[in-house]
Amino acid sequence: MMVTINDTTLRDGEQTPGVAFTAEEKIVLAKALDEIGVQEIEVGIPAMGAEEIEVIQAISSIGLSARLIVWGRMCELDIDAANSCHVDFVNLSVPVSDIHLKHKLRRDRNWVLEQIRHCVPLALDSGMEVCIGCEDASRADMDFLLTVLETAQLAGARRFRFADTLGLLDPFQTRDRIRLLCGSADIEIEMHAHNDLGLATANTLAAINAGASHVNTTVNGLGERAGNAPLEEVVMGLRHLHAIEAGIDTQLLFHISQLVAKFSGRRVAPNKSIVGSAVFTHESGIHIDGLLKNAINYEGFSPTELGRTHSTVLGKHSGSSAVLDAYSKLGIALSRDEVRGIIDRIRTYAMKTKHNPSEEELARFYLESAFSLAPLS
Ligand code: MN
Repeated sequence: MMVTINDTTLRDGEQTPGVAFTAEEKIVLAKALDEIGVQEIEVGIPAMGAEEIEVIQAISSIGLSARLIVWGRMCELDIDAANSCHVDFVNLSVPVSDIHLKHKLRRDRNWVLEQIRHCVPLALDSGMEVCIGCEDASRADMDFLLTVLETAQLAGARRFRFADTLGLLDPFQTRDRIRLLCGSADIEIEMHAHNDLGLATANTLAAINAGASHVNTTVNGLGERAGNAPLEEVVMGLRHLHAIEAGIDTQLLFHISQLVAKFSGRRVAPNKSIVGSAVFTHESGIHIDGLLKNAINYEGFSPTELGRTHSTVLGKHSGSSAVLDAYSKLGIALSRDEVRGIIDRIRTYAMKTKHNPSEEELARFYLESAFSLAPLS
């Protein structure tokens, strides 16, 4: 199995409510995505206007290794805008579910096929390759979707994007549908997953398993509503579940995550898989005891793959071996009796403050307990 990551942090990621990158930030992020090894970058929406076109042109002029893709609707206006960006690949989006056709556009299925037959050759004539972006594909009639696929291929499209626009599928449904599409045409099939039910990564991996050649991701899962499939999860999932390398330098994932968090103003939750601040931090007595004996006991993969290290903290669930270890690092050798008293102080502190004690606080607990002082309130 081979797969190409088409990262859309700069397009769908930026569509997150309240997120707006500056031109400078978009350029920095495009370079960072290229440096980390992303092969395709969806850079923006030319139809938004002159400013967006200028940024896309600026990114295009850097000469990145990654292929740049612009996003537009399946109409002449958006093809013209795309054409002014010096980018040779355009995603032309069209709704394909009856729900969207009826309630959003007041069009019918036939209109979709006519648009494809009309617009794809226009884009090809102006020197761009085309991906047909099937919006709301997960709620479309599958027979009609196969007709769309056939029409796209006949019109000369290179790629077909299956968008689970509202994040409604599960991995089994995704696998069945992508498998059917892959078996019905000779063009590239791309998966675009959303995370409304928390299944974007699972659905993306399922699509790859079913034969999708390309997948959309965003750093930190940035994107509309619950977001898209996170780049870092898809890359690490592929490596550890399927032994597939997506060509990404995982040592740089944490850095790019921080960059996107900063530029988007969307903080990363401490427990966010792969890139959260606390995902390699251990507190419970049983886990730390196991880790101290051998990290393999409680690490499914090593944080060093991400250029990170694990850390241990003391808290309500600490056991004596963790406390002895933490104090020995402070140069304090505790007796059995002292450990008991200090664990009590750590528990009280953690429950009261909802924090793990710092080294200074640990030193204070030691002094308080050595001199039988009451804890500071
Ligand atoms: Mn989307």
